[in-house]
Amino acid sequence: MKRANGQAPKWRRTRSLVMWSGGLDSTYALVRVLESGDDEVFAHHVRLTTRSDDGRRPSARGDYEARAVESIRALLADRYRPFEYGESRLDLAALPMPALETTVAAFVAAQVALGHGFTPFDRIMLGASRDDGRAWQPDSVAFAFRRTVLLRVLRAVWESEEVPFLYFFNPRPTRQEEADALPLDVYAATASCRDPDPFETGLGELRYRPCGVCRQCSARGQVVHRALVSAESPTASE
Ligand SMILES: [Zn+2]
Repeated sequence: MKRANGQAPKWRRTRSLVMWSGGLDSTYALVRVLESGDDEVFAHHVRLTTRSDDGRRPSARGDYEARAVESIRALLADRYRPFEYGESRLDLAALPMPALETTVAAFVAAQVALGHGFTPFDRIMLGASRDDGRAWQPDSVAFAFRRTVLLRVLRAVWESEEVPFLYFFNPRPTRQEEADALPLDVYAATASCRDPDPFETGLGELRYRPCGVCRQCSARGQVVHRALVSAESPTASE
């Protein structure tokens, strides 16, 4: 992968920090970076408590996403090279407005990168899909603005103009491409709901069911993993 700011120091591998929510975009980013190259990979999960989209109560998405990350970690351990994992918690449910999640992710990422001895030759990756709209497209003014804001956050935390490279896949993958790049069990374990409904299993275990109506749930409804398409269509061949 090409880097804008020169060659990495020769005495160690480039470090990549993936901010990993347990959702489709960031799980795709993590798997891709584990599959390709020889970067030293760090995944960091922020267990984020926010209010439901209607603002009326704290959402269960923090626990839901944390469980997704836990099961996906077990699935990845068997298939890909090892990576460092860490997590932190942020409870923003007291805020009367939706949290600025990308900004929050950049803020935590900057702290984590500092803590792990990252340099400006290393990179911070945030997952993003082409289906998230113009504001995430590399050639859009909205993205140029967003990128500037995120870099300001990194620079503020680092107290320096020189910060790790803020990396996004280019071109951005569609959600369908993200799903198809993941093994089916990993895809199925990703968490894509902002406001999941808790329920108890027969054994008294707490589980979550996607709400089916939030933006993430409707986006998820458009995707069918390739393994399920070939299972349904007898003419399809690998
Ligand atoms: Zn939902």
